[in-house]
Amino acid sequence: MARRAPQRAEVVSTERITPQMIRVVLSGPGGAPLAVDPAGNTDAYVKVILPRPGSGVVEPFDVEEVKARIPAEDWPVMRTYTIRWFDAETGQAALDFVVHGGEGIAGPWAERVQPGDQVQLAGPGGAYAPDPEADWHLLVGDESALPAIATALEAMPEGAKVHAFIEVADPAEEQTLLTSAHAQVRWIHRSEATGGPGEDLVRAVTDLEFPPGRVHAFVHGDAMTVKELRSWLRFTKGVPKEDLSISGYWRRGNNDEQWRAAKKKWNAEVEAEELARAAS
Ligand SMILES: Cc1cc2nc3c(=O)[nH]c(=O)nc-3n(C[C@H](O)[C@H](O)[C@H](O)COP(=O)(O)OP(=O)(O)OC[C@H]3O[C@@H](n4cnc5c(N)ncnc54)[C@H](O)[C@@H]3O)c2cc1C
Repeated sequence: MARRAPQRAEVVSTERITPQMIRVVLSGPGGAPLAVDPAGNTDAYVKVILPRPGSGVVEPFDVEEVKARIPAEDWPVMRTYTIRWFDAETGQAALDFVVHGGEGIAGPWAERVQPGDQVQLAGPGGAYAPDPEADWHLLVGDESALPAIATALEAMPEGAKVHAFIEVADPAEEQTLLTSAHAQVRWIHRSEATGGPGEDLVRAVTDLEFPPGRVHAFVHGDAMTVKELRSWLRFTKGVPKEDLSISGYWRRGNNDEQWRAAKKKWNAEVEAEELARAAS
């Protein structure tokens, strides 16, 4: 299948919604609509194409022309961001960026962009929406998965039963979440004192007394945490793979290129471990 060319976008506005989360609202060039309809997926995402700092590449650029001209280590990078909302009337979309210190390319980009700045997007992709047939829903993640969790909560119908566990740095990172569902949301504050990132989140989730019936689970965020929860959900709780949307959105100590390069092998190792466990 032919690869769709990236689409051009323009920054409409930016807003610091919490100390470490910046919302960037995008339109097409000159306010035209973007073609990023999430098609019902609450985890819909785009790949944001960003120049590497110091590479001399600036918008507007043509990705293929740049790749033909400069060494690979200077090529623009792609970073994946959830579509927090898409307004079908205006064709505008919002992406929420975690700013994790001064590190990385996308976080600092979100901090410095201004209305009118240009950027290119690939996608959208997406694969999860809460299953209306499920008896209850489990939503788990860190800040990187918070946009998808918030979007899923908004899409849940009245009466849906939801347990959500969200790990953030501290109380200032909590957001107001809107939902018609019967949702119990637990905010977990990251703490080195109790074992470091992910530890309290895993503890809180594994302490949950599972409600009866079939669960549909969405678990994303730091790969190490996700791996632990995947194993627990599959083997301790017997949740079938088909009822799990689960993956590492990023991995501590890896930038996105490193994580994407390692992800296939990592996933194969997790699968192999699970098969061995299932056979024993
Ligand atoms: C389908 C999908 C949807 C995603 N949606 C979102 C989203 O809506 N919002 C969002 O913020 N992220 C989201 N992510 C995660 C995001 O793509 C990664 O966090 C990405 O690595 C950030 O790029 P960067 O250039 O800021 O940092 P990188 O250059 O990739 O990494 C630099 C350093 O920062 C660390 N790092 C990366 N991400 C984080 C983090 N979240 N917290 C702490 N340290 C980090 C890395 O381990 C590395 O050490 C999503 C990922 C996927 C696969």
